[in-house]
Amino acid sequence: MTIPFLDLKSINLQDKATFHDALERVLESGWLIMGREMAVFEAAFANYCGSTYALGVGNGLEALHLVLRAWGIGPGDEVIVPANTYIATWLAVTYAGATPVPVEPVDRTFNIDPALIEAAITPRTKAIVAVHLYGQPADMDTIGDIARRHGIKILEDAAQAQGARWRGRRTGALGDAAGFSFYPGKNLGALGDAGAITTDDAELAQSLDMLRNYGSRHKYENEVLGFNSRLDELQAAFLSAKLPRLDADNDRRTAIAARYCESLADIEDLTLPYVAIGAEPAWHLFVIRSARRGTLQQFLKKRDIGTLIHYPIPPHLQKAYSYLGYKLGDFPISEAMHAEVLSLPIGPTMTDSDVDLVIDAIRAFHRPIS
Ligand SMILES: *Cc1c(COP(=O)(O)O)cnc(C)c1O
Repeated sequence: MTIPFLDLKSINLQDKATFHDALERVLESGWLIMGREMAVFEAAFANYCGSTYALGVGNGLEALHLVLRAWGIGPGDEVIVPANTYIATWLAVTYAGATPVPVEPVDRTFNIDPALIEAAITPRTKAIVAVHLYGQPADMDTIGDIARRHGIKILEDAAQAQGARWRGRRTGALGDAAGFSFYPGKNLGALGDAGAITTDDAELAQSLDMLRNYGSRHKYENEVLGFNSRLDELQAAFLSAKLPRLDADNDRRTAIAARYCESLADIEDLTLPYVAIGAEPAWHLFVIRSARRGTLQQFLKKRDIGTLIHYPIPPHLQKAYSYLGYKLGDFPISEAMHAEVLSLPIGPTMTDSDVDLVIDAIRAFHRPIS
């Protein structure tokens, strides 16, 4: 029995019939980019998140980058980012021409530590990117208070957290704007690259509508230097087909997470995920910590159980960011996480017996030799 880390085939085959309908509809419409399918998905996704506007874009990185651009953030500006995140969060800031300023995470939640944000704020700070890492919502109340006090914007990086809630409200409606990715492996994944931005700000939505499409509102009239970052009609149609399943998929992920937590709680060498009060995670990833991460991963691999490491190298130690001058030891909490984290399979099509195979294997690894 093989347990893949994420079985995208079985996940997408659930919607095979509606995907065929979507393809048929798009082909028959004769319209392939920025049309009715995008508008329909945008309305449905805004409604799902509880935001006024949603704008389809090419991918999650562009969603984040375009918001920073639309806010006029650029060279000379600083943007606070988590030290512990996927590099896309930092790249969005770099693309805008601004400088990412990393802040260490809270050990238990893996998310940015609000208590450390204020010390990183300078007169150049224009925004905070709050990442809901692994699908666990960040502490948006505290981050919101800090941002208001300093007059800076909050951009949610909700790429891993479609459907997650913080004190009853969904991600995408917790900051000034949010960037989503619909990369195939995300909780709501397209059949290719796709992304979206949500916001309640009408003026921002209007600038983004231009920025994503060559800076143009009327064809061949370019008001600003724009980009080409659009959501294809076909991907929008596929996403509309999948969106109604997102809550059920997230519920299944939650049930799997509960099963892991219950069955692995007594293993002292493992640290299991912690859910903050007020958080309803989307469980994009189920991340454990182990001092023997490497050997545990090899042991599971021999039993055909797929795991991944999110992430092995923090952004500040990536070669691409060597010009910022950071070194090992600059963000020790984040660095320790990168050395110890391991993501277990948690796809929504896993059965209870699949989950039990993973649990049994992990228990076998930790069994004392008698
Ligand atoms: C996936 C991801 C992104 C980028 O999304 P793409 O669609 O791959 O560009 C940004 N931030 C985080 C935290 C992600 O996981």
